[in-house]
Amino acid sequence: MKTSKSMMLLVGFLTISTMLLAQPETNIETTKMSETLYHFKVTTFYPVSTLASIGPDGILLVDPGMEQSNTELMKVLAELSDLKVTKVINTHSHDHHTSMNKYFGETAEIVGHAASIDLMRSDLDVLVEWPQKAFPSWSIESDTSFVFNGEEIRLIPVTGGHCKDDLLVYFPDSKVACTGGVLKSGSYPMVDFARGGDFRGFPELADKALSIFPRDVTFVQSHGDNFDYTQASEYVKRLDRSIPLIKKAVASGKTPQEMIDENILSVLADDDHAYPNRRFWIQTIHRGLTMKNNGVKKSLTAPIYHALMNGNGTDAVKTYRELKKSNPEEFGFNENVLNVLGYYLLGKDRLDDAIIIFKLNVKEYPRSFNVYDSLGEGYMNRGNLWRAKRNYKKSIRINPENQNGIDMLEKLATL
Ligand SMILES: [Zn+2]
Ligand SMILES: [Zn+2]
Repeated sequence: MKTSKSMMLLVGFLTISTMLLAQPETNIETTKMSETLYHFKVTTFYPVSTLASIGPDGILLVDPGMEQSNTELMKVLAELSDLKVTKVINTHSHDHHTSMNKYFGETAEIVGHAASIDLMRSDLDVLVEWPQKAFPSWSIESDTSFVFNGEEIRLIPVTGGHCKDDLLVYFPDSKVACTGGVLKSGSYPMVDFARGGDFRGFPELADKALSIFPRDVTFVQSHGDNFDYTQASEYVKRLDRSIPLIKKAVASGKTPQEMIDENILSVLADDDHAYPNRRFWIQTIHRGLTMKNNGVKKSLTAPIYHALMNGNGTDAVKTYRELKKSNPEEFGFNENVLNVLGYYLLGKDRLDDAIIIFKLNVKEYPRSFNVYDSLGEGYMNRGNLWRAKRNYKKSIRINPENQNGIDMLEKLATL
């Protein structure tokens, strides 16, 4: 199922979004922030920010964004300048910010944190299949600055917050900063444990990051509206105060649900509609404190991906079964892994293999509505309409609110 899949990608940091999702509508809101800087709030499934410096040196982009929005973004850039993109800066390597590296990497210099390349080469990004030109050609190891379009640009690498490759990007003349997953407003942090993020040092890291900037700075929010210094300092305070409260509750043996029911963070000003909200933050810290290795398990995607690349769907099922038998604790088994691999295969037009993987997911997680929905989509792609219908119906039986399934059945009825 596409919608929940895209949300899972955002929520679960699965770094495969750009190739798997169907072509969505793109909406771009442009704001001129200074003489040279433009902010683009690019919304496909969810908003992702891109910042551009445009002037005589050409175009510099901070976080070029998702593959699906590229055509629209290039149209907007062409209206503003005849010059090419010559530099791209990544605030970190999550692929919904950096997928376009592979296009710009032909001619532009890609600038990123020194830790980004190892992450992009790791099993975590195996489905992204990054080509060499997508990797940063200029790796930032310490505070650095350079001049572009007549303006100084400061790059400050930090580590162990959102990920281990967070890069703060600051335009002091324009008083604009892109801080990726480090500073935000109205919510709590997203901590990607698997990519080296950690909640323990987050308040200190965020506080230090904030101290770099003047009071009249404008922060570009990676996902959402831009925010000011006061909002950023409220965010830092919220982290500072929430972590000890959650730690205390974990030490007394409370489960995340008990903490949420008791509303242990009620003293903090917070917007429950923001994401990640306090529920997510409690779960993150609980997981970090109670599970071995912060709950990070080995990537199950990688061995199955390799089995698929060296063979076919049947080989992948064999690998899955062997791993489940011999290493059930070591690998992260969950329905999302197979679902995403199935969509990856659909995207590659390997329909038979996709169906084999979706069928395995149905066997493994027969009570999930989404596995039937995905298998339905597999059959629909292969033209097995009767089987597609049968699976969408099963999906709706389990979850009568599965709007995607309802819509697909309506569509199938007309075929
Ligand atoms: Zn991120
Ligand atoms: Zn992001």
